[in-house]
Amino acid sequence: MMANGGTEKVVIVGSGPAGWTAAIYAARANLDPLVLEGAISSDSEMIPGGQLMFTTEVENFPGFPGGITGPELMIALRTQAERFEVRIKGVSVEKVDFSKRPFVLTDSEGDTVSAHAVIIATGASANWLGLPTEEHFRKAGLGVTACATCDGAFPRYRDRPVAVIGGGDSAMEEALYLTKFSNPVHIIHRRDQLRASKIMQERVLAHEKIKVEWNSVPVEVLGDDTAGVTGVRLREVKTEKLRDLEISGFFLAIGHTPNTAFLQGQIELNEKGYVKLKDTYRSTTSVEGVFAAGDVADSVYRQAITAAGMGCKAAIDVERWLAEQGIE
Ligand code: NAP
Repeated sequence: MMANGGTEKVVIVGSGPAGWTAAIYAARANLDPLVLEGAISSDSEMIPGGQLMFTTEVENFPGFPGGITGPELMIALRTQAERFEVRIKGVSVEKVDFSKRPFVLTDSEGDTVSAHAVIIATGASANWLGLPTEEHFRKAGLGVTACATCDGAFPRYRDRPVAVIGGGDSAMEEALYLTKFSNPVHIIHRRDQLRASKIMQERVLAHEKIKVEWNSVPVEVLGDDTAGVTGVRLREVKTEKLRDLEISGFFLAIGHTPNTAFLQGQIELNEKGYVKLKDTYRSTTSVEGVFAAGDVADSVYRQAITAAGMGCKAAIDVERWLAEQGIE
């Protein structure tokens, strides 16, 4: 039941693996959580369920020996939460007031909810170049993705050329990972210098399967709806010349943006906008009573399973904290 005066014991914001895992644990601890699962944004970039809703096959989430699609996994997690009578509202949070307790959250319908504790699990969104062809093949699941760890092992990339876009550590890591399956692995970078750490650069530049396409910007992803991605058209920055590269996969690694715009000024964020955890092993934040889990507070691992683990920790932290406060 709701705590005194219509104030929720705990509100969970976000509905990816972190949010649903937190909800399952909180519900089983009798905290009667309310999940604000997000509303579909006009550009469909933000939808309930988060990034996994854009993923086809998930082969690395333990417990599914035959794999499971991203949307199926999210529906399963949601159904599991519903089994424990978690209350769910299909709204996004637009504003929060964490300056005093109980906290107040204002949603996309203009309604407010007050809560003794809040778990933020709004995730991070991969950055995309914004090319229409990129979006087309991404949504069709035909060779455009922002997660090599998730998708690199699929047959369509085996022994085929692929491209990684970006010059940071993520791009280096993804390119090195992809060399297990694909050949060659092109790194497409817009400058003549990589941003990545020296050690990663050295590994990449010494790798026989990796070729860096310097000073190059993708202008079109090539292919068709049967074969999927078959190539990429590049513009050479210095000469403005166009050239085509044959690839079967287009892997974006141009950074992520944490979904924390609604938290500005209310909670401590790091220089990249991720929620700062007070202690790496806990879910506590700079505001007592506000906890964070999943990619919104993790720019390093960004896996469904690590997010789920963080969701579990957040629910346990909330349970203990509410007990300390005498809120039952
Ligand atoms: P990042 O360091 O911000 O690098 C993003 C890369 O994408 C940059 O090379 C950037 O080019 C390029 N880029 C951005 N927008 C672009 C656009 N519109 N078109 C073409 N290229 C574009 O992001 P990250 O690689 O995801 O790394 C994020 C953080 O996590 C970093 O601090 C990184 O060190 C860390 N990380 C560490 C490890 C590790 O230690 N193993 C692994 C992964 C990530 P410019 O260089 O020209 O700006």
